[in-house]
Amino acid sequence: MTSAGPALAETYYLDGKPISQNYYQAAKLLNESVPLLQSNRNQEALEKLTTASQLAPEIPEVHNNMGLVLAKLGRNAEALQELEKAKAMKPDLAATWVTLGGLYQSQGRIQDAIATYSEFLKRFPSHSEANKIQSLVNGLKREVNSGFIRKVDPNATDYLGELGNSVKRWPPEKMPIKIYFKSGHGVPAFKPIYQQILEESVATWEQASQGAISFQRVDSPQKADIVCSWTNDPSTFSNRAEAGETILYANQKGVVKGTVTILTVPLMVELPVTEARLRQICLHEIGHALGFGGHTSNPDDVMFYSLQVSDQIKNLSARDINSLRQLYK
Ligand SMILES: [Zn+2]
Repeated sequence: MTSAGPALAETYYLDGKPISQNYYQAAKLLNESVPLLQSNRNQEALEKLTTASQLAPEIPEVHNNMGLVLAKLGRNAEALQELEKAKAMKPDLAATWVTLGGLYQSQGRIQDAIATYSEFLKRFPSHSEANKIQSLVNGLKREVNSGFIRKVDPNATDYLGELGNSVKRWPPEKMPIKIYFKSGHGVPAFKPIYQQILEESVATWEQASQGAISFQRVDSPQKADIVCSWTNDPSTFSNRAEAGETILYANQKGVVKGTVTILTVPLMVELPVTEARLRQICLHEIGHALGFGGHTSNPDDVMFYSLQVSDQIKNLSARDINSLRQLYK
């Protein structure tokens, strides 16, 4: 930012109130950070916000956006600090509560997430995101009550014990698993790259199994064991805290067939659908389709119960891979 602007003696006014030149510059940088955040140009947004917070640390929105961008960059500890700062300075900033709840959620701090979201609902009952957050809270409470999140060793080398009898298995005679990818064309917000990411996610699990499982692509849903499709409507999902839904049908021998549905729109506006996040969702849902019925308590796992605020590319954890090999050995 060069200082070719007006001379220092001039006075800036914001809503009729005089403000310092620093405040004016910081507010301008804050505004510029918004489209950058929305288009996921996080590093550029962070640079602007860092300068803004040096110029005018008294603007709560700067700390809120800093928190969001740091969370997207996976810098969770710093993100928490900024969001706590924003919340203390301006508790009526709704976005702060949502981001903070999401951050707790993605770190596995479920009770903190539930408390933060609940406080949001109390403060902003008619907010446009209130219904979604309420579903999210219901989903999280269900996870806690269902026992998926138990006091287990989150660092055990596999999580089959942790998931218990929610785990199912495709029997050997079902290999290769026939999979049909329904075209996403016509589904609002669908992009062709999403299809590629989904297919890559299937291949990632297949490769990790070292031959124990295999997939074969078929050209009609009638021939398929697994049918994958896209939707922009999460209201059809039974658990609205997830950006996808997998349903499996099993008999005594194991899994017979299943469906995987992936959301083309963000669960929350704060977490736009990016390639990194979509890959995380696809890996997670395909994990469910392979028989992992529950969720783990280790945020490194693809089968961790929550979507990450971080927008970093995620791969299968060693525990994901070990669990798959254990299940299909
Ligand atoms: Zn799940």
